[in-house]
Amino acid sequence: MFKKTIFRKQQLKFMIFNLIAFTVIFTIFGVIIIGQVQQTLYSKSDKELLSFKEMMIDHPSRLPVPNEKMDRLPPYAERQKEHPNPRIIVLKWSKEGIIINQNEIGSSFYESFLQDYTLDKTNIDIITNTAIHNLYHFRYLLFETTDANGDRTYIQLMINTDAEQTIIDNFERLIIICSIIFIILSITASYILSRKMMGPIIHSWNKQAEFVENASHELRTPLTIIQNKLELLLTEPQEKIINKFENIALSLSETRRLSKLTSDLLTLARADSAETQLAKQMIDADHFIQGVCAPYMEIAESQDKHFWLNLNCKVTIEADEVRLHQLLVILLDNALKYTGDDDSIGVKTYVEDHKVILEVSDTGIGIKEENMKYIFDRFYREDKARSRETGGIGLGLSIAQWIVAQHNGAIAVFQNKHKGTTFKVKLPK
Ligand code: ADP
Repeated sequence: MFKKTIFRKQQLKFMIFNLIAFTVIFTIFGVIIIGQVQQTLYSKSDKELLSFKEMMIDHPSRLPVPNEKMDRLPPYAERQKEHPNPRIIVLKWSKEGIIINQNEIGSSFYESFLQDYTLDKTNIDIITNTAIHNLYHFRYLLFETTDANGDRTYIQLMINTDAEQTIIDNFERLIIICSIIFIILSITASYILSRKMMGPIIHSWNKQAEFVENASHELRTPLTIIQNKLELLLTEPQEKIINKFENIALSLSETRRLSKLTSDLLTLARADSAETQLAKQMIDADHFIQGVCAPYMEIAESQDKHFWLNLNCKVTIEADEVRLHQLLVILLDNALKYTGDDDSIGVKTYVEDHKVILEVSDTGIGIKEENMKYIFDRFYREDKARSRETGGIGLGLSIAQWIVAQHNGAIAVFQNKHKGTTFKVKLPK
């Protein structure tokens, strides 16, 4: 429950970050695009305003030319210089802010649109936008000049940009709608993706937590036993060792168990963090396996078990000697642990489909079919009580599986026809 809340919070955080990031990205994108569109749309009007101003300064007498006939049209650039855009309205302002060329503009146009319009001197010589009655949009260029009497006047060149403004308004609306749709889609996608991504993380988090819990449990048991036994010994300091032999032997065996457990845990922790590097070299498989099996043959004999070898692969393999030795020890230890008197243990090697096969089989207690899928899991023991007796912790096969994987091989377990188990390891030649 607690874990679920943590993951939910994490997912929510992730989504909020995504929402902020996408909103910022789409806003910047929208602003840039709208800015570019505005610039492109206004550039023609701006050029016309500037060339009109130039012409007014160079040839003031030629202006304005609203009704001039144009029989043959000259090229655009020339035409623009010779015949300025008739859309341009020229307002001449007195320094008191009164329009002094009402006659040129036309009185009805003046009364309808410009009566309430006032002179704004903030943007002299800078092309800016303005609106009349909040309805009609213009780009304008205001500049200072002097009249025939030498008085300062202002000329405002205006060009109607309603068409451009409509395009920009529509475009803005489109960009906003698209951005909202994309933000919603991105958030939905990030929600789905985050759920998918969190799945394996939650799984390995749970596995890791379970591993730590199991490890501490396994460590606590031998430590408690050792502590109890030592405390007991301390209560009778005058006693002879021979009389407390059992307590000491038990403490020693638990210490060994503890030492094996910590070394196994270390191996797996290093395996998880991909810290362990294998030192691979060419190994004569049969010869090496025979060497590892030799002491086990003696142990088996001492336990009245039959040990047989059938080594037939006759090839060299590229492997880490230490890890390969560890793999064989795990499998042979298990074979000895889970067999009784008169049972037999066998090691067989051969080549199949260009792979070296190593089989360790026994006629022992076997593994139930339904439990076979768990035996490579960390801390899994089929019979907990029995494993403890034999010193098993449930980490051996996990380490074996990791070693095989590090050699690009595979390991599997099978039930023998009559009795017992066979572990089959496939390694590349
Ligand atoms: P353990 O230290 O308990 O042996 P392993 O990881 O080596 O841990 O093995 C996991 C479990 O698989 C064992 O507890 C045992 O139940 C089962 N197992 C492994 N090898 C054999 C075998 N040769 N015969 C029967 N059961 C086995």
